[in-house]
Amino acid sequence: MPFCNPLEFFAVSIQFQIEKNSGPGRVGKLRAPHAVIDTPAFMPVGTVGSVKAVSQDLLERLGVQILLGNTYHLYLRPGLDVVRRMGGLHHFMGWRRAILTDSGGFQVFSLNDLRKVTEEGVTFRSHLDGSTHFLSPERAMEVQIGLGADIIMAFDECTEYPADRARLRESMEMTLRWAARSKKYFEEHKEEVPWASSQLSAPSSQKGGGGSDQWLVTSGKSDERETSDQALITNHSTQALFGIVQGGMDRELRRESALRTMEIGFPGYAIGGLSVGEPRELTREIVEYTLEHLPSDKPRYLMGVGTPEEIALYACMGVDMMDCVLPTRAARHGLLFTSEGRISIKQARYIEDDGPLDPQCQCPICVRYSRAYLRHLYAANEILAQVLNSIHNLHFYMETMRRVRQEIAAEGRKRGPKQ
Ligand SMILES: [Zn+2]
Repeated sequence: MPFCNPLEFFAVSIQFQIEKNSGPGRVGKLRAPHAVIDTPAFMPVGTVGSVKAVSQDLLERLGVQILLGNTYHLYLRPGLDVVRRMGGLHHFMGWRRAILTDSGGFQVFSLNDLRKVTEEGVTFRSHLDGSTHFLSPERAMEVQIGLGADIIMAFDECTEYPADRARLRESMEMTLRWAARSKKYFEEHKEEVPWASSQLSAPSSQKGGGGSDQWLVTSGKSDERETSDQALITNHSTQALFGIVQGGMDRELRRESALRTMEIGFPGYAIGGLSVGEPRELTREIVEYTLEHLPSDKPRYLMGVGTPEEIALYACMGVDMMDCVLPTRAARHGLLFTSEGRISIKQARYIEDDGPLDPQCQCPICVRYSRAYLRHLYAANEILAQVLNSIHNLHFYMETMRRVRQEIAAEGRKRGPKQ
């Protein structure tokens, strides 16, 4: 009962409830200030406050409950001050459900060859205009608090691959120190989040409600209404800050990173530093090993992964949240995920193929358009090709996760309420 304790009352950020287990896999509900999220959840990536080629009302109809924003990109353009003055990222982009922002660290490390890393933070050049910027744990928190996502991430160093053990340890130790600094700054400034102030509208009163006429979806039709009704936002809601486990491909360092990050203490934990060029099998091994050392009652977020097969696999292994640019990026390149495998729509074999993209798919694209038309749009370099392809691929990912949740829940019923 958080209301019995004023300190806890002010600390309301997220609530995580596991409803069914099947082996290591679990289904649950993550109650965040702006939405209730069914887990395991896939989070589409909205890099600069936009999931490329897909509008916010379409994302709602696809059943997206949480999306990811990239702090690095938003910090550079339009800039923190603009987003903060516009009431935070939710209000600015007209998105009333949940958002998670990354810390900016990953992009600083992956997009900048001229970066300079010190204990204090990272100096880097903007990929837009070459201007010099500095991100530290404190600055990354300040930016993420100003953007106002429901869930924000500690500032970490994403270690390159491959890296030797000495380098991995040094990097992991710095990430731990940065995690402690992130938490300290966050605790001192979390009341500054834009929507903590009563002057701004709660999501239910934002314009452009929508979302109740969700498409397709084989089950769970009431999810959307529940999403807005049961979110946690009050004038005393705060964001939730997640810690990030690093340690590269070294099992012992992964274990140590997990335990020491848990000692600092966060309401959720992410597995970072994967999908950086290592073999897929190694990713799976490190994820499985790291999960064993994370608390089972807290949400676990695997960052930047993966293909439809991989997100299903990791969900069954006990991951609760995932994000990846793959469905939208692949769509823009004409690569489409279907129940019959991958299709490269640009191929000449589809020129006069009147069938649907995926006969098993109930998305609005497959219901209405032929492969021949989608192939034509792509070949003609029409903007609509990117829109339609992105909607189908996102639907495929959301549907994949929905099916995994159903399977885990069904298995869990057979085996009883507890694992
Ligand atoms: Zn489809």
